[in-house]
Amino acid sequence: MNHPLKGTKQTPEHIAKRVANYPKVRKLQDPKIKIERKVKITDAGCWQWVGAIFQKPTGSYGQLRVGRRGEAKVVRAHRYSYETYVGAIPQGLVLDHLCRNTLCVNPDHLEAVTQKVNMSRGRHATKSKCVNGHSYTASNTYFNSRGARECRTCRGIRYRKRKN
Ligand SMILES: [Zn+2]
Ligand SMILES: [Zn+2]
Repeated sequence: MNHPLKGTKQTPEHIAKRVANYPKVRKLQDPKIKIERKVKITDAGCWQWVGAIFQKPTGSYGQLRVGRRGEAKVVRAHRYSYETYVGAIPQGLVLDHLCRNTLCVNPDHLEAVTQKVNMSRGRHATKSKCVNGHSYTASNTYFNSRGARECRTCRGIRYRKRKN
């Protein structure tokens, strides 16, 4: 794959310069420009979406409006990025974030997989720490009534708070 943001050397300033140099019409229509002007490259190499966002149970995702006036539609940013830099997403497949950052639209961090694979890779299974940074060791982990993994340290803190 050969695209201008490959690697982490491109800074937001580089992108801003590139975007500024595009003729106005292309700026509005070029899919790559549409993407590149709305991302910030993180230390991990993620293209962090800084445009509009929508929430799903699985996380936050970027979205953007594409298409000409009158036939514009809102699409998911990571899907749009994959289709722009890699190609069509094969029928029946979903995109998995290899970096586990759902706001990332770096095509190198996206892989088209079956829904089944995506579920089995589920982000909870790969997280090694809870939201408060406690490690999910065997002794610090329990499964709640919904079968989801939870942190014992946090539960202890919650219980103590309730007593006070
Ligand atoms: Zn990423
Ligand atoms: Zn915790």
